[in-house]
Amino acid sequence: MEECAYIGLGTNLGDRELNLLRAVAELGKLPGSRVTGLSPFYETEPVGGVAQDNFYNAVARLQTSLSPADLLERLKEVEVKVFRRVPSGHWGPRSMDLDILLYGAQVLSGERLTIPHPRLAERRFVLQPLADLDPSLRHPSLGKTIAELLASLTTDERVVRI
Ligand code: AMP
Repeated sequence: MEECAYIGLGTNLGDRELNLLRAVAELGKLPGSRVTGLSPFYETEPVGGVAQDNFYNAVARLQTSLSPADLLERLKEVEVKVFRRVPSGHWGPRSMDLDILLYGAQVLSGERLTIPHPRLAERRFVLQPLADLDPSLRHPSLGKTIAELLASLTTDERVVRI
């Protein structure tokens, strides 16, 4: 069975625009998957207090027959094998970070995987590109649409469309 997943992409090392394009191409190569939407790209200030370059962020929509666990495993493989990502601490610089934001209307809470992504609702750099793809999309556990979550944000982190 196929599901519609939303993948968050983030990078602040190397050629950030090229990294995003490369990651989208890799998503399209995953087994049983095709990319059916891509948000605009945004330049965003890092969160978490570590001094580092700004990020480029985007969201891709993926039609996939991979299970959530298999999808996570494939995303981690792309981070490590394609982008040579090395551990840099939770909030440090990274060549590519791939997160499962939403997987259909599924709600999962496990040791390795939480869906919807636990910090989705508080991050403008995720909500804005998600809203570009589909503002009426509903967060399955909060019951609010992406547009509503975006409108209720109180932070003023800079998220600039490039
Ligand atoms: P990160 O610092 O974003 O690379 O976090 C990495 C770890 O977060 C992964 O190894 C996953 O086990 C865990 N994780 C939990 N929920 C998610 C999710 N929805 N998408 C991606 N990673 C997740």
